[in-house]
Amino acid sequence: MSDNLATRIRANQQKLAAELKPQYDFIVCGSGSSGSVVARRLAENAAVRVLVLEAGGSDDVPSIIDASAWPVLRGSEQDWWFRAKANPRLNGRPIPMSMGKVLGGGSSINVMVWSRGHKNDWDHFAAAAGDNGWNYQSVQQIYRRIEDWHGVTDPARRGKGGLLFVQPAPDPHPLAAAMLEAFAAAGVPTFDDQNGVMMEGDGGGAISNVCVRDGQRQSIFRAYVYPYMDRPNLTVRTRALVTRLRFEGKEVTGVEFLREGKLHRIGATREVVLSLGAIHTPKLLMQSGIGDEAELKRVGIPVIEHLPGIGRNFQDHFMAPCVWEAREPIERRNNLAEATAMWKSDAALDTPDLQSFMVEAPYASPEAATVAPPPNSWSLTTAVLRTASRGRLRLTRSDPRDPIDIDANALDDPADLKALKICVWFCRAIGNSASLRAFAKREILPGPLRGAELEAFIRNATVSHSHQTCTAKMGRDAMSAADHRLRVYGIDRLRIADG
Ligand SMILES: Cc1cc2nc3c(=O)[nH]c(=O)nc-3n(C[C@H](O)[C@H](O)[C@H](O)COP(=O)(O)OP(=O)(O)OC[C@H]3O[C@@H](n4cnc5c(N)ncnc54)[C@H](O)[C@@H]3O)c2cc1C
Repeated sequence: MSDNLATRIRANQQKLAAELKPQYDFIVCGSGSSGSVVARRLAENAAVRVLVLEAGGSDDVPSIIDASAWPVLRGSEQDWWFRAKANPRLNGRPIPMSMGKVLGGGSSINVMVWSRGHKNDWDHFAAAAGDNGWNYQSVQQIYRRIEDWHGVTDPARRGKGGLLFVQPAPDPHPLAAAMLEAFAAAGVPTFDDQNGVMMEGDGGGAISNVCVRDGQRQSIFRAYVYPYMDRPNLTVRTRALVTRLRFEGKEVTGVEFLREGKLHRIGATREVVLSLGAIHTPKLLMQSGIGDEAELKRVGIPVIEHLPGIGRNFQDHFMAPCVWEAREPIERRNNLAEATAMWKSDAALDTPDLQSFMVEAPYASPEAATVAPPPNSWSLTTAVLRTASRGRLRLTRSDPRDPIDIDANALDDPADLKALKICVWFCRAIGNSASLRAFAKREILPGPLRGAELEAFIRNATVSHSHQTCTAKMGRDAMSAADHRLRVYGIDRLRIADG
């Protein structure tokens, strides 16, 4: 990015902020992975004025830019660092949950793996929404448009020349190849592209697709919004905490937000788009009177629309990582998560439900690793992708500044514990296999545990993968919040576009 553009952007945004308008055509709340795309696509039409409101600050931070530095962002100023409430199935642990609080949201603090949904997931969304525009075939065309892919040629599936630079992790650490070799020996075949044909079948392993270029993070904000911030029709306000929607009857007319302790009100003549992520989108909806009637009454919020599904159906990927000490110090390359594998806990399933990443760093909950693993450790993550447990988010009080109660409810359904045990057991076998022997001085976690001991380990070791979703879902049943065009049921001029 040229210095010229950076100077123009700074001057333009200062001017736009000084002349903040009483109303815009569109207000996009949240500048994360989703909000960034929505804001840019809207602003491509020079005739519409777009305002983006983001609670976090600048993403011009060395640990955001350096692709290998993401571990230090956990719990940082750029992380909401939510805490799910104490869970008896996790030995009473209140586990932390990372979500980006910064321009770019999750895309500025995440691990930068470009992971497409499986074919069956997209076809499921299309069926739930009643719209083939969400099926795999349709969405594949959208993926192709987004990507500037620098891996094996696959024109039917992969795009060239899009806004987002994606490549297979270049010159990965030898641990990555060793992991894939071990999975292949265990019957999980290796593919040359994580997001090609591999996402249409029974699973496989591949070098990770990463949004990393020359060692630097390529966030969705930087790809989509930043290059447009010298335009007169795109205003981006940071440190602006959206607190409420404003209405005339059931029509949204604008938003309220807090900035530097002051409450502001701004109108939207066309639409408000909520892209606050899976925890704060339902929170804002409920604060504004859209949610389960009984819940809203409990905290004294007048009901605008009774939508009982808002805040329910919370889903995440939970994992209990396995850790080994390496024989040598591990050189940091790319995003430290350079290989992945997906497979099935039960051959009868139609879609892979387990996933592991090679993480070239120690990754363990403090309760599982009572003695911190040495820095030259590597980990295999053990995620259950298709969880059966469902959590719930509830307001603690009516004041928007009050925290939200997060009942993540991990491992509530015994099927999830069963799948996680299978995943941990399989990853132990991978980590202790001949392919990885040259890199493994000793297994640190979990060791050869079985039965109740393995279960106790999992309850202490389970952490969030930071993939929170589904709390204001698209669909057609009574628990859905939005239709297939992401319009909130019963409310005019309001859409939800996020995870
Ligand atoms: C540590 C970590 C690692 C991850 N690794 C990967 C990975 O490697 N690959 C992958 O595909 N996914 C990964 N994810 C998940 C991925 O980043 C998220 O699924 C994705 O960013 C969600 O997008 P979103 O638009 O729903 O929300 P977000 O990207 O979270 O964006 C929401 C935005 O809204 C802002 N906001 C919230 N409340 C308010 C408010 N009241 N007012 C104003 N602004 C507000 C937030 O600050 C944030 O910027 C990871 C996530 C984390 C946190």
